[in-house]
Amino acid sequence: MPGAVWVIAEQWRGGLSEVTYELLALGRQIADDRGAALEAVLLGSGVVGLAESLGLADRVLYADSPAFAEPVGEVGSRALAALATERKPTVVLVPITNVSWDLVGLLPARLGVPLVNFCMDVAAVGDGLEARCLVFGGKMEVRAVPESEPVVIGVLPGARRADAGRSTKRPEVEPVAAPAPETCGVRLLGYEEPEAGDIDITQQEVLVSVGRGLQGQANLDLAEELAELLGGAVSASRPAVDMGWLPMTRQVGKSGMLVKPKLYIALGISGAPEHVEGMKDAALIVAVNTDPGAPIFNVAHYGVAEDLLEFVPVLIDKVKEHKS
Ligand SMILES: Cc1cc2nc3c(=O)[nH]c(=O)nc-3n(C[C@H](O)[C@H](O)[C@H](O)COP(=O)(O)OP(=O)(O)OC[C@H]3O[C@@H](n4cnc5c(N)ncnc54)[C@H](O)[C@@H]3O)c2cc1C
Repeated sequence: MPGAVWVIAEQWRGGLSEVTYELLALGRQIADDRGAALEAVLLGSGVVGLAESLGLADRVLYADSPAFAEPVGEVGSRALAALATERKPTVVLVPITNVSWDLVGLLPARLGVPLVNFCMDVAAVGDGLEARCLVFGGKMEVRAVPESEPVVIGVLPGARRADAGRSTKRPEVEPVAAPAPETCGVRLLGYEEPEAGDIDITQQEVLVSVGRGLQGQANLDLAEELAELLGGAVSASRPAVDMGWLPMTRQVGKSGMLVKPKLYIALGISGAPEHVEGMKDAALIVAVNTDPGAPIFNVAHYGVAEDLLEFVPVLIDKVKEHKS
């Protein structure tokens, strides 16, 4: 029997993140196609209940220690590397998120094994694997074949539906001892929560989101007017926030907020994976972009290949006309 497929389960503040279930669904498929076992590996403090909920895995290995309460990459990667050296999985799937980001790099480095990163999908092909990955910030897609195993694979959120990774089955659960160093060069001091006071974009039903294509803060009025007419708020891509057009609380994406409005209008946003990760589950996505090949059109339900500075004033007039 080939070595196990591992899914590194991601927990934070007492809960498992959705991406854990997405990876379980992906890992299940790979494991079944190879005739291998699927094992979930969970580090945390007081996590036996969480371990038992990972029913799609054949077995859940969990290491319980206060040292694993917070996701510190230095700590987690040492523990996981020690476990992997002992158990010898052949494929290790790690989610690419803010929480697990450090593990994606540190774990293969500690194990001295290859990393295939930014993968949207992975399939068992013959005796090996083939991965579909994004490169150049999502502008291109490549197919990558790991030439040797074990291999660590960084998987982007959205590779599978989370629902497909849930199961009411009770997995075999095994407590394992993993080294939990008290000092490792990095100490988490705490979290800085965003200041209250600004609009909560996660609660809006309509978002008009602006990107670098807006071309300047002076044009923000256009987005504000459209958002107000539609009863929503203005959100932004990271560059729009980095340039100081809007506060950090309005940022959508990997390092911003996860939003699921009824309507998401993306103005001058290219659709980089880090942005799409935060808005792809909006019920209706409309994108306005001068570049007909912009990746945002891959997730948009309606696309307008026009200059937003010309299109939005016309749209505003049409909405006003419709309202009156
Ligand atoms: C670890 C990490 C985390 C990240 N987190 C986030 C995140 O949380 N959120 C996020 O958004 N990004 C994030 N990024 C950055 C991300 O990779 C992209 O760089 C960013 O999303 C691009 O923003 P943009 O689409 O506004 O700009 P660009 O990629 O520069 O795109 C601008 C778009 O505007 C179009 N355009 C130009 N002029 C016009 C016009 N007049 N009318 C219409 N369209 C026009 C262009 O064709 C282009 O497609 C992250 C990156 C990393 C590495």
